Amino acid sequence: REVETPQAPLTPPQRRIGTLTHPDRLYWPDVGATKEGLADYYADVWRYIAPFIVDRPLALLRCPDGMTGQHFFQKNFWKGAGAGVVALDDPAATEGGTLIGIRDFEGLMGLVQAATLEIHPWGASCRDWDRPDMIVMDLDPGEGVPWTAVIDAAHEVRQRLEAVGLAAFVKLSGGKGLHVAAPLVPRADWRAVKAFTQGLARAMASDSPDCYVATITKARRQGRILVDYLRNQRGATAVAPYSTRARPGAPVSMPLAWDELGPEVGPAHFTLATAPARLAALDADPWEGFRKAARPLEIASHDTT
Ligand code: ATP
Ligand code: MN
Ligand code: MN
Repeated sequence: REVETPQAPLTPPQRRIGTLTHPDRLYWPDVGATKEGLADYYADVWRYIAPFIVDRPLALLRCPDGMTGQHFFQKNFWKGAGAGVVALDDPAATEGGTLIGIRDFEGLMGLVQAATLEIHPWGASCRDWDRPDMIVMDLDPGEGVPWTAVIDAAHEVRQRLEAVGLAAFVKLSGGKGLHVAAPLVPRADWRAVKAFTQGLARAMASDSPDCYVATITKARRQGRILVDYLRNQRGATAVAPYSTRARPGAPVSMPLAWDELGPEVGPAHFTLATAPARLAALDADPWEGFRKAARPLEIASHDTT
């Protein structure tokens, strides 16, 4: 694999550990990862994660007592949010609807201070709330599905996206599955993008009914992979590339090059402890060229069968 120069800005961020209260608080007690460790992790990966979390609505999985304590999934801005965490007013919201955003590294440190163990952005930026700039196809293996089948599913999603002129990128979810993302020039609206992704999921399920399902009905999922297209509707979220997960071992959702995808790299392979070394060794963004590869979703391309 060729090593290329990252296109993300290389400016190392300032660490603002001084603003953290309780830096020694254990967030992942099973691996001894602390709040300060989380801040250090995000300082290391800032240049990679920034394009996916700056200036877009964010939902946060907050765990004030760490991974083993109470979790809450928060979509709305709150009083007392730290410096750098900003309130976003959804232009389409009729009532309330003040959402959470960040503009810079200070904002990310504000999320750490607020015990954010997972960051879940929208697929649209605040420049255009109604036109997504990325698709995420979420592959959720049911009980008993081998990992190699999830990998096959990702390759099939890639083929179907490329068949309509889109570029496809893959990441480990940090949980149980894979996510395939396609950067979009924000032109089609949520309705068109959702319809397209629903069509893609349904086509996979009807072509290979023993392997895939497109609806979340639990009973049908045994031994099959849910092609979850519902990340692609207004207000829905998916975990950000490089976000940590509130799961044992402090795994992260790690972008891979397609040729890195294989049976030896499981969905929670990379962690807060190992991800920075991987990125440093790679010395390139594993999703090199993501934004440059964006294409508009053409309305005429909805037939994915
Ligand atoms: P896995 O690989 O284990 O499936 P995942 O991140 O894909 O990991 P899913 O359960 O498939 O997890 O995805 C659920 C999605 O719904 C997440 O991407 C997240 O953005 C969103 N979500 C998570 N928790 C909540 C919640 N409590 N309320 C609403 N939406 C949630
Ligand atoms: Mn999933
Ligand atoms: Mn899912």
